Amino acid sequence: MLINKLFDTAIIGGGVAGSSLLFTLARYTNLNNIILFEKYDEVSQLNSNPKANSQTLHVGDIESNYTYEKAKKVKESSSMVSNYIKRFNGVDSCGFVKDKMLLAVGEEEIIELKNRFNEFKSLYPYLELWDREFLEEFEPKLVEGRDEPILAMGVRGEITTVDYKKLSESFIQEALNTEKNIQMRYNEEVIKIEKENNIYKITTDTTSFKAKSLVVNAGAYSLLFAQSMGYGEDYAILPIGGSFFFTKEKLLNSKVYTMQNPKLPFAAVHADPDLTENWNTRFGPTAFALLKLERYHKLHLKDLISALNIDKSVTQVYLNLFKDKSIRSYILKNFLEEIPHFGKEIFIRDARKIIPSLSASDLKFADGYGGMRPQIIDKRKRELLLGEAKIKEDGIIFNMTPSPGATSSLYIAWQDAKSICEILNASFDSEKHKLEILNN
Ligand SMILES: Cc1cc2nc3c(=O)[nH]c(=O)nc-3n(C[C@H](O)[C@H](O)[C@H](O)COP(=O)(O)OP(=O)(O)OC[C@H]3O[C@@H](n4cnc5c(N)ncnc54)[C@H](O)[C@@H]3O)c2cc1C
Repeated sequence: MLINKLFDTAIIGGGVAGSSLLFTLARYTNLNNIILFEKYDEVSQLNSNPKANSQTLHVGDIESNYTYEKAKKVKESSSMVSNYIKRFNGVDSCGFVKDKMLLAVGEEEIIELKNRFNEFKSLYPYLELWDREFLEEFEPKLVEGRDEPILAMGVRGEITTVDYKKLSESFIQEALNTEKNIQMRYNEEVIKIEKENNIYKITTDTTSFKAKSLVVNAGAYSLLFAQSMGYGEDYAILPIGGSFFFTKEKLLNSKVYTMQNPKLPFAAVHADPDLTENWNTRFGPTAFALLKLERYHKLHLKDLISALNIDKSVTQVYLNLFKDKSIRSYILKNFLEEIPHFGKEIFIRDARKIIPSLSASDLKFADGYGGMRPQIIDKRKRELLLGEAKIKEDGIIFNMTPSPGATSSLYIAWQDAKSICEILNASFDSEKHKLEILNN
C-alpha cells in the first residue's frame, strides 16, 4: 500500500464537491498521488444525497433571482455538469431529462415573466412561453380550480434533474479508471490539519497522512478546519435546514418553479418529480434556522458553537434579518411549517400557488428528506452571503457550498485544480478539459 507516502493533493469530504475535484485532478492534471477522506462509509451521505437536496441542475434559465449577467456565468458552470453526464454515460443514471418551467401567477408576475423571456431568450434559445391553454393539456393540475391568469416559461428535452450522489460515484469511478494512485479512505474522519515546512499533516481518527496541497470540501466543517488553522476568522455559519412535503400521489410530470423574492433567493416554493420516489411530486424546500450541522446525524455541540461563531457582528446580522418585515414573516412561516401535522396546514398556502386544488390532506411531511445549508455570514461586512464561499491560502483551499453548490461543483473543481497546479508547478490539460467538459 502506498498510503503513507507523501500525496500531491489530499481532499477532505466525499460529497459532490470533493469527488468532482478528485475526478478533475485525476483526469486533467499530471498529479499522480491523490487521497480523499470521507468520514462515512459511502460518498454523498450529507447534502449531496438526493434526499437532502432538490435534485435540480440550476442552469439559470428559470431561476428568476438571477440577473442576465449572473445567468450567463451559471450557464457556463452548470453546462459542465450536463456535458460530463452526457460524455460519461450518465444520462438516466446520474442526470435525467425532465421538463421544467417557471410559473407566473397574476398580472404582475406575468409582465415580469414576459420581460424576462424577451431578455433571456438570446442566452437560452430553447425557452418557450406556455399559456393557460397549453398548460391545461401539458400539466392540468396547474390550471384546475385556478381563477388567476397564469403563464409559464418552459424548457423541454434538457437535463434538469441530477442525482448528485450517483454523480459523485461516477466521478470517483472515472478517477479510479485513470492510471493514477488514488486512495479512497472511507470511514475515516479527519480530526486535525497542521502545516509543517510547507507540507500538510492530516490526522484522522486512525492514523496520519501528509500532502503537498489540501482541499477541504467538508460543508460547514470546512470553516471549522480553516479557523482551527487561524484562517477565515471573519466568517460564521448560519445553518439553514430545508424540509420537503410529498403529495400522496404523483400530480406533475415537470419541475415547476415560481417567481423568487429578490430578498430571499431560492426560497420560493417549487415542485419537483423526485427520483428517489418513483418521480412522485415533492414540494419544498422550507428554510429555517436549525441548531445542527448535519440534518440526520448526531450533533457535536462544540462544532456547532464554533460554526455559529457568535459575537457582536454576527448578532447584528441576525438583528438586521429580523428587522426586514418580509424576511421576518418568512422565518416565522417556515418555523411553523416544521410543527408536526400542523406544518402542512401552513405550507399548503404556498403549494397552492402551484396546484390550486391541493388540500393539506394531500400532503405528507417527507420524513428523512432535507439537508442543512451552511449559509455564510461575513462578519466584517456584517452581511449574509448568498452563494458559495472559499478561503484560499498557500497550498490549502476551504470550500463552503450552500445552494446551488452541487450545480457548480465541476466549475469550482476546475478553478481549484488550476490553483493546485500553479502551486505544485504541475500541468493542467486545458485542451482535453475543454473538449470533454467545457464544450457541448
Ligand atoms: C434543502 C436543500 C436543497 C438543495 N437543492 C439543491 C439543488 O437542487 N441543486 C443544487 O445544485 N444544489 C442544491 N443544494 C445545495 C447542494 O446540496 C450542496 O451545495 C452540495 O451538495 C454541497 O456539496 P459538498 O460536497 O460541498 O457537501 P456535502 O455533500 O455535505 O459533503 C461534505 C462531505 O464531507 C464529509 N466530511 C465532513 N467532515 C469530514 C471530516 N472531518 N473528515 C472526512 N469527511 C468529512 C461529509 O461526510 C460529507 O460527505 C441544496 C441544499 C439543500 C440543503
